[in-house]
Amino acid sequence: MNREVFSQIPQVEKLLQAEAVQQLLIQYPRCLVVESVRELLDSIRLLPKPKIEKVDFSLESLGSAVRGLVSEKAQTSLRPLINATGVILHTNFGRAPLSAQAQKAMLEIASGYSNLEFDPASNTRKNRHSHVEPLLRSLTNAEAALVVNNNAAAVVLVLNTFARKKEVVVSRGQLVEIGGSFRLPEIMKVSQAKLVEVGTTNITNLGDYEQAVSAKTALLLHVHTSNFKMVGFTQEVLLSDLVKLAQARGLLTMSDLGSGVMVDLKRSGFDHEITPQKAVSAGVDIITFSGDKLLGGPQAGIIVGKKEYIRQLEKNPLSRALRVDKLRLACLEATLRLYLDQDNACKKIPVLEMLLRPLEEIDKQARDLMSQIRAVVNDGLSLSLVDGFSQSGGGALPAEDIPTKLVALHCPRMSPEKIAQKLRGNEPPILARIAKGQVLFDPRTLRDSEFKVIVQAIKNIF
Ligand SMILES: *Cc1c(COP(=O)(O)O)cnc(C)c1O
Repeated sequence: MNREVFSQIPQVEKLLQAEAVQQLLIQYPRCLVVESVRELLDSIRLLPKPKIEKVDFSLESLGSAVRGLVSEKAQTSLRPLINATGVILHTNFGRAPLSAQAQKAMLEIASGYSNLEFDPASNTRKNRHSHVEPLLRSLTNAEAALVVNNNAAAVVLVLNTFARKKEVVVSRGQLVEIGGSFRLPEIMKVSQAKLVEVGTTNITNLGDYEQAVSAKTALLLHVHTSNFKMVGFTQEVLLSDLVKLAQARGLLTMSDLGSGVMVDLKRSGFDHEITPQKAVSAGVDIITFSGDKLLGGPQAGIIVGKKEYIRQLEKNPLSRALRVDKLRLACLEATLRLYLDQDNACKKIPVLEMLLRPLEEIDKQARDLMSQIRAVVNDGLSLSLVDGFSQSGGGALPAEDIPTKLVALHCPRMSPEKIAQKLRGNEPPILARIAKGQVLFDPRTLRDSEFKVIVQAIKNIF
């Protein structure tokens, strides 16, 4: 390698003394600036020779490159993005956006001290769950409730408490893998429960469960197979029949509902979903569901059921390890309060509002977005309105395509993949769908306030 070229690369100290970099030191933490200077110089050293020869080694030019790196590092890593995919609950995008009420409650509790485990009136300690338990009781009709870190934790806690070194009977049709990382057999293993599979993937009947029950059986487990739907010749045992069998044999029943849908979606034309209320009335002993799926709240694992079992769960040391913090309790309480009025919940909880948003409204949004884009880019771009489907995601409402209106964008000079890549590179990143050579924007998961960001990004790209 040409030594002359290398000798042009300044030392770290020298570049730190440059005027432009000194300016950065006033604005940003020193460690970020030094790290950026090192990174820049290292990256130049790694360039192939013909490229190094083209580098502008003036301190102004290097200084401005350092500025770029520093401003990137100074940004928080976890930050918002715009979801134009139409997938309402996307684990990678943080699942449920929160209601204004939940946001306010979190902020208030975050900014100071609170009565998390204290009752000022009696000057005594109290249980942190007392802030949400009465709400969960009245919303689900269950005797008692407990909240842990997430639904996976809830399942582990229940199995570890009641089925450690014992057997748990599950239908093969319900042995699902949910959202990539929830595999029931693995959850069973860490809970130290032994899995006993019954039936076949498409058919399980009560007799299958009856035959599998032995002296070692502790629990009959029902899992809501929420992210796929079997069609055709299938048979599942009714929850109430499972409860009857368990009671006759002195066993417990547990239902993992996945998405805790608390409103009657059947009324809105969606396929039947088992709600926690229905599982309680079927007589299930312990029911678990997520806080951040269709419930529309914070990440949490909600456990409701018979009082004696919930109290036993609380005594398991694992529940201390899986406990939720004050921010999520504040958020969950505010979210649950909205459910006291179901119509209110459907309007104020973002995931429900998006799910139930009428097609006419989406159509209006799509036309609005399209005309805003047209106003800034008028040639070289074809825009149209197409029919499509949104998805609930998050393992809820399977095969339940939700009709929507999409804004389809096509450009003969740029591939849809390239356009999507540029949209992802926007700040904030914009996530869209690609189909049939077009980039598609689904207004269902967009707020009108996000339109101008999308319009500006498209203007920048073209
Ligand atoms: C999503 C889901 C889980 C996992 O819930 P998390 O809150 O993500 O831990 C468990 N069981 C079922 C049936 C689910 O749908």
